[in-house]
Amino acid sequence: MDTDVEGVEQAVSTGTLPAWSRVDELVTEAHERYLPRTSGAVADYIPVLAAADPDLFGVSVAEVDGRVHTAGHVDVEFSIQSISKAFVYALVCHELGHDIVRERVGVDNTGLPFNSVIAIELNDGHPMNPMVNAGALATTALVPGATPAEQWERIRTTLSAFAGRQLVLDGEVYQSETLTNQRNKAIARLLESYGRIDTDPLEVVDVYTRQCALRVDARDLAVMGATLADGGVNPVTGERVVDAHVCGDTLSVLAATGMYERSGEWLFEIGIPAKSGVAGGIVAVAPGKGAIGTFSPRLDRAGNSVRGQRATAYLSRTLGLNVFASDVHASGRAARSSERKDSAS
Ligand code: GLN
Repeated sequence: MDTDVEGVEQAVSTGTLPAWSRVDELVTEAHERYLPRTSGAVADYIPVLAAADPDLFGVSVAEVDGRVHTAGHVDVEFSIQSISKAFVYALVCHELGHDIVRERVGVDNTGLPFNSVIAIELNDGHPMNPMVNAGALATTALVPGATPAEQWERIRTTLSAFAGRQLVLDGEVYQSETLTNQRNKAIARLLESYGRIDTDPLEVVDVYTRQCALRVDARDLAVMGATLADGGVNPVTGERVVDAHVCGDTLSVLAATGMYERSGEWLFEIGIPAKSGVAGGIVAVAPGKGAIGTFSPRLDRAGNSVRGQRATAYLSRTLGLNVFASDVHASGRAARSSERKDSAS
């Protein structure tokens, strides 16, 4: 799309969250309200994930001023899985820029599940977007580094900077997925055949499998998301992780594709960009305000955490995060009513 806005400065619109104590109450309420809900099923296509405790549930909100609210199992670690795609995409956007990434990886929804092979075939070998496995593999292949080991280290340190602490690999999850990721290997080979991956596709899958096995907790997800809400600066550590324009590039893609084939429904109901992972995490970001991190392993059929979606919906609504919601502006109403009075007199 040619928008013809080269050199035009990006102005931003922001808002404010309710008072700290109110946010704290709402985070606790969201946790209590959805704790009794036990529908959905723990992912088992990666064998070790089937062993997760289905009753775990943590909710966290990180504000752009660095304050963090928590309720429930916010310190229990789990593998980040597909949520890594958002942050590796941000890293690649930061390094290579908007245009290259849009051309190489794409920004449009496939309307199909995250591990679809048909989506690649239907789009002449184009991976379509960085949040499905095909696009995520194409994105990981673009991470700077002379060797896969260097690329992996770059991913680990960047995602750690987003979280504000050193993230480590879950060796058991990595091993388990490595033994069962034939489908991702097939996707990578298919992309190679279309000229969409230039390096060794199996090495790309290995780095991707590692990035998915990084251990995080719900609080980390909130802080990582809040970094994208805060123009690329981690609000807890103060470290700049990516350039400000990268946040807009990443969040717009999350809005369109972060919840897979449910992304439209998610925006319709909840109204903020988000990304989920099959271990049960969700991060949802309110630009200029903060982010929500949730963890609960029971998933719906699209692979999104059931409790996590509900807690996020509740917090989006009560904290006023929906980017599409508006109300009649009070001063405008006052001005119009005084105009009416003037013209009546
Ligand atoms: N590692 C998982 C995979 O590639 C991630 C999928 C997900 O979280 N949706 O299949």
